Amino acid sequence: MKIITRISQMQRWALKHRSQGIGFVPTMGALHDGHLSLVRACRKENRFCVASIFVNPSQFGPGEDLKNYPRTFSADKALLLKEKVDILFYPGAREMYPDGFQTEVRVKELAHGLCGACRPVHFTGVAAVVAKLFNIVQPSRAYFGAKDYQQAVVIKRMAQDLNFPIGIRVLDTVREKDGLAMSSRNKYLSRPERMKAPLIYLSMLYAQELLRDGIKDARKLKEAVGEFLRPFVAKIDYIELVCPENLRPVATIGRVSLLAIACYIGKTRLIDNITLTLPAGRQAFFPLPRRGREVRGDGEGT
Ligand code: AMP
Repeated sequence: MKIITRISQMQRWALKHRSQGIGFVPTMGALHDGHLSLVRACRKENRFCVASIFVNPSQFGPGEDLKNYPRTFSADKALLLKEKVDILFYPGAREMYPDGFQTEVRVKELAHGLCGACRPVHFTGVAAVVAKLFNIVQPSRAYFGAKDYQQAVVIKRMAQDLNFPIGIRVLDTVREKDGLAMSSRNKYLSRPERMKAPLIYLSMLYAQELLRDGIKDARKLKEAVGEFLRPFVAKIDYIELVCPENLRPVATIGRVSLLAIACYIGKTRLIDNITLTLPAGRQAFFPLPRRGREVRGDGEGT
């Protein structure tokens, strides 16, 4: 694996090799199995696999965790080496944003709701850095996680609107055994906070169960999820039910809707989402007792 820190060198390599097919996984480092699932798919589907690590300052708002964002370069490098990544692109902030940098890439409506409402500069920063990385790395496919669902939708739109000839692949969220979505920010959680954190996923499965029981009204579902979560979290930024394509809030659950949550466990802001399906499709992670049916300790229903 070659480590490249200069844009000019990365671009030279990319222009030479792009005709053979470059797959690309952009990350901010502090890598975990969620990132590695993207790397593995990228490795499998492309002649070359490029990963980047860049903690992008422009997507952090004032008072957010840019300074404290976990940086674990040596461990990340070892993981990527093991996954047989060809190139690790690892530029510094000055390299990416030299003096005089002025350009913004703004995706409008898709970036306004959900995380965009609480983090007003976030998606402008994400879209600009991903557009830059696409031009530098010249991939034919780029890999993103459904864990950051809104980000994936914003990038898909940006790539389409700006005619990047790149296939955007969005892969499922990888979870810990207890259901918590893997995230670099999970490192911030204290032990008691870590024990509470899987309740975010559990609250979404609860919504899926209520839907199975026939509750399709989005307001009622959001209220129920809120009641479930509130005792355990410091703050809820949003619990939202939206159309997975245009991210507009829905009043009633359609065939497929996206349930998205952002909340604080202690001081750590975590996000997660699942698709709610009608009629219910996915198996619950923890099979919850259905209404009118008790589950005994031995797992047998009465
Ligand atoms: P980040 O380093 O947080 O910017 O994430 C880099 C990429 O990894 C993004 O496309 C994320 O959506 C994706 N990712 C982060 N966590 C997960 C996860 N638990 N499962 C799948 N993909 C993830």
